[in-house]
Amino acid sequence: MTTEGAGVRVKRAFGFDHTPQLDPFLLLDDFHSDNPDDYVPGFPWHPHRGMETITYILKGKVLHEDSLGHHGEIGPGDVQWMTAGSGIIHQEMPIGEKDGALWGLQLWSNLPASYKMMEPRYQEIKSSEIPEVWMDHGVKFRVICGEVNKTKGPVTGIVCDPEYLDVTVPFQTNFTHHVCKGHTVFAYILSGKGVFEPQPEAFKYSETHPLGPESLVVFDDGDTVSVSTGDESVRFLLISGKPLREPVAWYGPIVMNTQEDLRAAFEEYENGAFLKHAHKSTVL
Ligand code: MN
Repeated sequence: MTTEGAGVRVKRAFGFDHTPQLDPFLLLDDFHSDNPDDYVPGFPWHPHRGMETITYILKGKVLHEDSLGHHGEIGPGDVQWMTAGSGIIHQEMPIGEKDGALWGLQLWSNLPASYKMMEPRYQEIKSSEIPEVWMDHGVKFRVICGEVNKTKGPVTGIVCDPEYLDVTVPFQTNFTHHVCKGHTVFAYILSGKGVFEPQPEAFKYSETHPLGPESLVVFDDGDTVSVSTGDESVRFLLISGKPLREPVAWYGPIVMNTQEDLRAAFEEYENGAFLKHAHKSTVL
């Protein structure tokens, strides 16, 4: 467990210590609790620059607002793909369901040098706008970003050409999915159990040992990944993206290419010169 924000307990699937192994991805946090004490402090005002945060809520909701007047609510099944670009200052405050349950995932993805100072952009996707695709053998996809069987996800125009899928594979099923060779591809297991291949030696758990909830699988390079199940189904996020292969200068919520740019960003935040783009009224 890691503590983030004002004291939110999160399970960090990967983060700073893994850079650049998951390039272009920086971090994946899983906040999953039935106890409001674990998450009510939330993530009060903080900046982001040079990267993207992708928030996917499974239970409860997160109220979001930024210093430029944009605000919204990310509820169960919803996604917020926030491209911080040149910078936003925001807060993210979780609210549990009636029984106290909250479950959300936040992925951080890096931006290449030429896009780090782009205008901030939000793609706010309601659950009902996320297409579900059913494949042979009852494999189910929620397509958030990318394309499955000619069905495109609603999140578009992301530089690293990512795929973000929520996949459920029924029990006793072998499933193969095509991915772009050369892209970083990982799975994060939400529930159930499965055997995931191909795994590189460095991350290898066991050839045949099924992995369960909160396991991270980083796939070896290739053009397919496969999952097979035994007596249990498995639900996981399947995420891929094109590596940037650029230097990473990262401190807290700001990710630049050089220490100089990183220092400048924090100086600007301190002296009130952080925000470079006034918000256009494209959302809400
Ligand atoms: Mn944030």
